[in-house]
Amino acid sequence: MNSADPQSFAFVQVAVPTPLHLVFDYRWHANRPLIPGSRVKVPFGRRTVVGIVIKGMHESTYPANKLRSIIDVLDTDAILPDDVMSLLQWASRYYHHPIGDVLCSALPVLLRQGKPATLAQREIFRLAQQSSAPPPSAKKAPLQHNLYKLLLDAESQYVDAFTLAAVSTRWRSALKPMVERGLVEADTNMVLPSNKAIDTGPELIAEQQTAVAAITATLGQYSPFLLNGVTGSGKTEVYLRCFEPVLERKQQVLILVPEIALTPQLMRRFQRRISGCLVSLHSAMNSTERMQNWLLAAKGHADVIIGTRSAVLVPLPRLGLIIIDEEHDGSLKQQDGFRYHARDLAMVRARDCACPIVLGTATPSFETLNNAATGRYTELNLTIRAGDAKPPKLALLDIRRRPLIEGMSDRLFDEIDKHLEAGNQALIFINRRGFAPTLLCNDCGACADCRRCDAHMTVHAKRARLRCHHCGSERPVPQGCESCGSEELDRIGYGTERIAAALEARYPDVNVARIDRDSTRRKGALQAQLDAATSGEAQLLVGTQMLAKGHHFPGVTLVCILDADRGLFGTDFRALEQMGQLIVQVAGRAGREKKQGSVLIQTRNPDNPMMQTLVLDGYASFARVALDDRRLAALPPYAYVALVRAEAPDVESPMQFLRDVSKRLSNPAVEGVSILGPVPAPMERLGGKYRAQLLLQSMRRSSLNETLSRLTANLDTLKGAQRMRWSIDVDPVDLF
Ligand code: ADP
Ligand code: ZN
Ligand code: ZN
Repeated sequence: MNSADPQSFAFVQVAVPTPLHLVFDYRWHANRPLIPGSRVKVPFGRRTVVGIVIKGMHESTYPANKLRSIIDVLDTDAILPDDVMSLLQWASRYYHHPIGDVLCSALPVLLRQGKPATLAQREIFRLAQQSSAPPPSAKKAPLQHNLYKLLLDAESQYVDAFTLAAVSTRWRSALKPMVERGLVEADTNMVLPSNKAIDTGPELIAEQQTAVAAITATLGQYSPFLLNGVTGSGKTEVYLRCFEPVLERKQQVLILVPEIALTPQLMRRFQRRISGCLVSLHSAMNSTERMQNWLLAAKGHADVIIGTRSAVLVPLPRLGLIIIDEEHDGSLKQQDGFRYHARDLAMVRARDCACPIVLGTATPSFETLNNAATGRYTELNLTIRAGDAKPPKLALLDIRRRPLIEGMSDRLFDEIDKHLEAGNQALIFINRRGFAPTLLCNDCGACADCRRCDAHMTVHAKRARLRCHHCGSERPVPQGCESCGSEELDRIGYGTERIAAALEARYPDVNVARIDRDSTRRKGALQAQLDAATSGEAQLLVGTQMLAKGHHFPGVTLVCILDADRGLFGTDFRALEQMGQLIVQVAGRAGREKKQGSVLIQTRNPDNPMMQTLVLDGYASFARVALDDRRLAALPPYAYVALVRAEAPDVESPMQFLRDVSKRLSNPAVEGVSILGPVPAPMERLGGKYRAQLLLQSMRRSSLNETLSRLTANLDTLKGAQRMRWSIDVDPVDLF
């Protein structure tokens, strides 16, 4: 861009946060430098908004006297550097999402609001190196004790205020007396103090060494890898070893993880091993901390950045390696607004900045398997578990015509008894929270339904509430049927709360931990439960997929999967793929150390060929069969699809709008694109809105793209487009 002569531009093109697929021209104060990617304040309608400079121009297609002027320039440098700007502009075209919204979603909230992009002084703390003050007692001062433990874990290193604040909102008043007693030292620092490794890690086994050698041989060039490693095979160890040469080259590592919950654990593991500045980025942080960490990454201070999905959009001036852990995980796809897939953006980014990218998983997504099969990605395999751990033994447990107690069969209990008696832990997996998914009237057959969705309310027994898991609305559990008043109400089906209660009743002396979104809402609750699971203090673990992802519980030898069948009959084209991944991932929690692990899968479909293939032949064979079906059905990864969704308070208008869209897209049709629908969404009513969708399918990505461009090109001529809530989803992960 012509920044050599910033004075010569009279106009500037600015992206502002609006749902319009447009950029806006403003007049430029010629006496200030013009920096693409910097923030400006501009008038927009009757408001003042923060926008981002796209480029300077000598002329505008609008008459100059119609154009308004920039109010203020907020940055002296590009807040989004050239490479991120072009990535985002590419993404805006690829996902057909408005550029203003795309650029703004790349910024932390505070920067979006126009706050100055300056690094603040950080308060940092560590245990005093020599202090005779007694440590706080766990009984008398539990909060102080927890803070003390955290500092003790960090050994001699500094911990920043944000980390301590995660323990409790009252951390400051608890810490103060510890500083006064000389137990803790406080300091401030401009950037995070550099972390010092205190551990070198285990010696790698041959397969790990091969993987590390292959990846590190490609530093400095674009080179995509699939690291296909069975659960517990030491993928994280491979990542860690790949970091070292990257950091030596003074480059940055970006690692994306699927769950916020996993970042603190991974962070602690990294801190033991990596010397350098490590920062994490995820949505559970407060906005100040998030902006500060974002700036550390963007200004090039941070060496290793661990984040969830949106971290893929952070500027990284020295990027040298990208790792996507659990690349199959659905949470890498943003499901509203700017619907990007972090894995796919990461791939584009790695190519643009010429660095290797590693997709690690035990259960590769079908897209990735296809890319490896066609040679686009280099596949590296870790086929054996690290250390002395053996692969878990999977077995199907036929529950047809067997007595069930609270959804669990007698043989399942026998197994649980055995493992508990041996002093081990068991994990019971059911992918449903709450007590029971349905409240049914025995007299009239009515279910308690959500008033805003086409869905049943889930019973939450402890809180005595009915809750809709789709829109979040809730009400008290009624005394009698809401239709006929009868008190003959049955709670049908099982959720984690019910299973945990049943286990507590059966094993009164055993400590049961339930881990799901409800039991972990309170700050610090999740960490406490994970700690109890890891230490073995909780002998029975009951949980949803939160328990399935990436955790390492050394004492778990038995995994029971209660509701595996659900995935066999899912309506979505990815249901089977997700079922296979979930079963293998949950199973992977069993026997991760010296003791052999077993996995029992309760099923009423023991003869189902897909279930059989998965259990007997493993995920790779399962995926091969399922991929053949995808090919026959012309579905991804063999074809490309996009959804146009619309929603409104009435039934008719989303369908009508999509009929108009369909008409526009098919007259004349782009060759090779089929337009299916519109049809009502599988769950038509959600949160009080009626939803419909139009499916576009093509064997050629470019044809699909061309079709969608036609939709966004002249939106003002499409009836209702401004009033209707509608969206485009390119490469949707589900068709809901
Ligand atoms: P994954 O990420 O594939 O699930 P991890 O990297 O978490 O696996 O490794 C699983 C366990 O095995 C961890 O406790 C890790 O420390 C250990 N481990 C990994 N590699 C080795 C090795 N080469 N020798 C001994 N233990 C190892
Ligand atoms: Zn009734
Ligand atoms: Zn609802």
